[in-house]
Amino acid sequence: MHLIELYKSVQGESSFAGLPCIFVRLAGCNLRCAWCDSEYTFTGGKPYTADEIVAEIEALAPCRLVEFTGGEPMLQSKELLPLMERLLAENYTLMIETSGERPLAEVPKAVHKIVDVKCPGAGSAANSFRMENLEALTKKDEVKFVLSHREDYEFACEFVRTHALHERAGQILFSPAFNKAPSLLRTTDNATLDPRTLVEWMMTDGIDARLSLQIHKFIWEPIKKGV
Ligand code: SF4
Repeated sequence: MHLIELYKSVQGESSFAGLPCIFVRLAGCNLRCAWCDSEYTFTGGKPYTADEIVAEIEALAPCRLVEFTGGEPMLQSKELLPLMERLLAENYTLMIETSGERPLAEVPKAVHKIVDVKCPGAGSAANSFRMENLEALTKKDEVKFVLSHREDYEFACEFVRTHALHERAGQILFSPAFNKAPSLLRTTDNATLDPRTLVEWMMTDGIDARLSLQIHKFIWEPIKKGV
């Protein structure tokens, strides 16, 4: 497998936010979201065997929560899926952060999938969600919409309603997009969509979704990597 980085930090978004977590960041992505904050994953990466990855994870004990992210980790599904099975057998709690564009049916059901649905503001990545992945969702999973503006918000509300997402997934996450060139300040000024505006819309419309802020961008400077 090709890895960009493997490190321990605090989980920054989803319902696991705030928990200690080991991140395994895989190289490569086939999308180009307009607001992507992980462009450094698109190329490069260092080859690792499964044994080497497991050894690095074990060295970060006692943390038992592991998130596979990227880039798009499912581009390396041939190696990733057996590694997931191995770690599950060793009683790790696993998460995968995925764009939702790759098939997810083969991901072990015990893995918590955080699945993006790309909104219009994602630019060329918009409408990349693979509809058959709706059938792969379980109540362990969370569906995330990164929102840049009102059009994205309305798209997300409509998608949730049309596809009865509350019946398929455990959480619906509404996450304001961040500027690609943020200031060093750890403030909401770096968000493309002001979280306060988003909350006001959600309250007005009675939307049953969880506001998801990327807390690592408030704990550390928003451009900091490996956190
Ligand atoms: S899917 Fe993720 S890594 Fe790929 S371009 Fe979009 S935000 Fe960046």
